[in-house]
Amino acid sequence: MHFSADKFHQRILDWYDHHGRKDLPWQKNKTPYRVWLSEVMLQQTQVKTVIPYFQKFIKNFPTTKKLAQAQLDEVLKHWAGLGFYARARNLHRTAQIIQSEYNGKFPTDLLELQKLPGIGRSTAGAIVSLSMNQSAPILDGNVKRVLTRLFAIDSFPYDSKTQKELWQLAENLTPRECCADYTQAMMDLGATVCTPDQPKCKICPVNKFCLGYKEGKPETYPVAKPGKKIPERSIQLLILYNSKDEILLEKRPPIGIWGGLWSLPETQDEDIVLWGKKNYHCTIGKIKHLSTFKHAFSHFHLHITPVLAQVKKWQPPLMESSAKVWYKLAQLEEAGLPAPVKTILQQLTQQTYDTHHPLPKTKKRSTRA
Ligand code: SF4
Repeated sequence: MHFSADKFHQRILDWYDHHGRKDLPWQKNKTPYRVWLSEVMLQQTQVKTVIPYFQKFIKNFPTTKKLAQAQLDEVLKHWAGLGFYARARNLHRTAQIIQSEYNGKFPTDLLELQKLPGIGRSTAGAIVSLSMNQSAPILDGNVKRVLTRLFAIDSFPYDSKTQKELWQLAENLTPRECCADYTQAMMDLGATVCTPDQPKCKICPVNKFCLGYKEGKPETYPVAKPGKKIPERSIQLLILYNSKDEILLEKRPPIGIWGGLWSLPETQDEDIVLWGKKNYHCTIGKIKHLSTFKHAFSHFHLHITPVLAQVKKWQPPLMESSAKVWYKLAQLEEAGLPAPVKTILQQLTQQTYDTHHPLPKTKKRSTRA
């Protein structure tokens, strides 16, 4: 290492005393459960988005026990809109394991924690350092960015060799004392000073150690994956409506995008009338294609075309399945829906819903999980 770890800690901790974030909702009444929940919510999601979700979630599930006892549907409902739904399913599963196998108490051992669904090395490190003040490194997105810049690491940070190098650096830098403050300080530095674009190097407390800054091009780190092209997919989401102003929702399979959430039926580019006959034994009346929009997932882009389709005749026995339900548009707030589905349906509720006169075209827009 080209600088002293002690001097680095001193600068980081002094900076944290004056500029660190100390009043985030999960920093009050700090428990392993609250830290874990916030860490999982913050994966791929910004603090300002997470705050209202965290507050609502913790109000409904204030303890691991309450979360373990809840129905998965309820948990997903409170997660709806945050995206990456496997996180919510893992939270629920892990809460149940903590209740049944750990007597309701969070493991305090790093390796033991990593055996739980959805808890990787960095989340385990954050739980023990932030809520138990144990010395453990973390390597979330913010810390990874700070380290690649500090050490001018010019290989892709998710390569296994580079990951190993970064973990080693994180470990070497983590102090034995004041671990909770140090961990929070590193996260805060990444979030507020060493930002992805235009890092504020002039006011950075560790700029004298930073090789990326010395080179004059800190924002080029971490380096992007060479030749990465995001795949594109297209689907139609069917807004099947009946004469009672109800809309058909289907439960998604537990694994995959929007896993376990209620959503609109999905097709590729099939003929809607034939599709209705084949899948629901129903007769489709008027059909109206609305404007296509793009929804960005982390690993692909989804082009969604909502299609309004009037259901004229429905075969009641099919409704015995609990995986499909007719929902009143007015009740949709109660259902846990993926963000783009919610947007489509909110637009419908904002207009006069008339089954005989399909709605006007929606505007072009982009959304994100
Ligand atoms: Fe990040 Fe700039 Fe600080 Fe280096 S000097 S750690 S690039 S903010």
